[in-house]
Amino acid sequence: MTLSRYQFGYETYFIFQGELLCFDCGRKLREEIKEEATPEELETDIWLMDSDSYPVAHSMMNSEWDYPCHCSQCSEFIETANLTDAGVAYVKEVVKTHPDNDISELYEYYYSDIL
Ligand SMILES: [Zn+2]
Repeated sequence: MTLSRYQFGYETYFIFQGELLCFDCGRKLREEIKEEATPEELETDIWLMDSDSYPVAHSMMNSEWDYPCHCSQCSEFIETANLTDAGVAYVKEVVKTHPDNDISELYEYYYSDIL
């Protein structure tokens, strides 16, 4: 388990079919989908905006979450800009109930300013 290489608050993540993807998985899936697309599909870019058919990029900078985010494919921790009160409570609960767990140690490190 390692922290992402991106600076706090600036990480890009992807949403695809309602799931979060880290930068690497999102980019990889985008390439795979483009390789399988027909030339006609590639000429239209409407489908590129639809997260049901293509991973859409977002910035964590202005986002706020009720829980810490992990990639749905590789479980990589995705750095989030802000946690809601519910998110802070969730992190505190995880750290309290599973103090020796890798995830707890990651949260303790990453969210040390709010714990
Ligand atoms: Zn991933």
